[in-house]
Amino acid sequence: HHDVGMINPPYRSSHHRKSQPSSFLNRKRYDICIVGAGLSGSVLAERYASQHNASVLVMEQRDHIGGNCYDYIDDETDIRVSKYGAHIFHTSYERVWDYLQQFTNWTPYEHEVVGSVGLNGTIVPIPVNIETVNALFGLEIQNTQEMDEWLAKEQVKYDNPIANSEEMALSRVGPRLYDLIFKPYTEKQWGTSPRELGPEVTARIPVRNNHDKRYFTDPHQALPSDGYTAMFRNMLNHPKIDVQVNTNYFDIKDDIDCDHRTYYTGPIDVYFSDLGWDKLEYRSLDFERKVLKNVPQFQSKPVVNHPSSSANFTRIVEYKHFLNQSSPHTVIFYEHSKAGGEPYYPVPNDRNRKLYQKYQSMAEATPNVSFVGRLANYKYFNMDQAILNALEIFDKDSTSFGGGGGG
Ligand code: FAD
Ligand code: UDP
Repeated sequence: HHDVGMINPPYRSSHHRKSQPSSFLNRKRYDICIVGAGLSGSVLAERYASQHNASVLVMEQRDHIGGNCYDYIDDETDIRVSKYGAHIFHTSYERVWDYLQQFTNWTPYEHEVVGSVGLNGTIVPIPVNIETVNALFGLEIQNTQEMDEWLAKEQVKYDNPIANSEEMALSRVGPRLYDLIFKPYTEKQWGTSPRELGPEVTARIPVRNNHDKRYFTDPHQALPSDGYTAMFRNMLNHPKIDVQVNTNYFDIKDDIDCDHRTYYTGPIDVYFSDLGWDKLEYRSLDFERKVLKNVPQFQSKPVVNHPSSSANFTRIVEYKHFLNQSSPHTVIFYEHSKAGGEPYYPVPNDRNRKLYQKYQSMAEATPNVSFVGRLANYKYFNMDQAILNALEIFDKDSTSFGGGGGG
């Protein structure tokens, strides 16, 4: 069941072809080279091939397309699961939503999360809403006005602009909810105090002054009906796109000609590792899989957060909730955060911001290469932000594309 998502056969070294001059042995020519078959790389490949009939090579070091969105069918339970954590699509960008319609059908899905909070593991809605507060503090808040009044009494006021993730959370929910929901979770997820992280981390989670239980409020919220991998396969399914998995760009870069431009979507510090500079920090996750035979359901929601410091994981994902999958069994994944391993989350602190700026100035001085996506921009992009960013880069760069149909 391991679906590598391959479309075109991997490119063959050119000794299969006759009458090549010897200097062209093992060389291949493309208009556009793309490092990484995640969203950023796939959007660019699709746009160049479909809009300019450009020849495109996509290189992917993993054995599958889709980047961190990759999903597959779990072979013991037949349930579709994501290899790198649950991915919930939500957007307010009409352009992104319209663009994606050509690659997949969508199943409407509004994500809801609960947390198991405090010593008793009280199950409450996250983000914080009226029910959360009533359940944790034995209150009977009924409406938005009462909730606003309660929040105003809790919230910490700051004279200066909010400087870090602790102040961000305290300014929104006050110390009691901070200590129960934000502080211990953030410490586990990031391995550091929220004080050491830029305010944008905890700012991702809103506070609701109503009964809305949804994690997101964007107008478009849905999941690709046949999974993300199938969506990527459709994006990359073009005669002018060659996809080569199991291929590290740095191993083959001297064997390819990229006539127009190269798009690099890997970690920016890896691209410039020859400089010997300090490394950027990334947070990573281990996914601990557990199959529960003849257990129809493990938890009430697809994602249950475990902010309390007594659990050694941050959240548990039960995939059968997504896309209404039925099975006599269930499969769950515990998320354990760690420092080394696959780079998932850029860590927004001063050290990394300054270091990233140094790398970025190198990137700007690198001709014919663009640095795109979550890892190359060192930015906590959601899927829709990554797509919009890639579309806008295509808009800008492709005006200078003259090679239409070369290669
Ligand atoms: P990536 O998906 O990381 O793709 C980059 C690709 O480049 C990778 O496949 C990598 O293997 C490849 N690569 C790197 N270096 C090389 C090299 N030298 N040679 C060849 N290939 C290389 N977003 C949401 O909107 N909703 C969510 O619910 C959500 N959940 C998430 C959960 C987790 C745990 C994580 C980590 C992210 C989540 N995201 C979510 C964010 C989402 O994953 C990103 O927005 C998206 O993956 C960005 O795509 P990308 O192409 O920029 O990067
Ligand atoms: N967060 C928290 N408690 C929660 C949920 C989130 O403290 O129950 C904080 C935590 O710092 C986390 C950030 O908010 O890293 C963003 O949460 P999100 O669910 O968006 O994390 P992601 O899905 O990106 O891992």
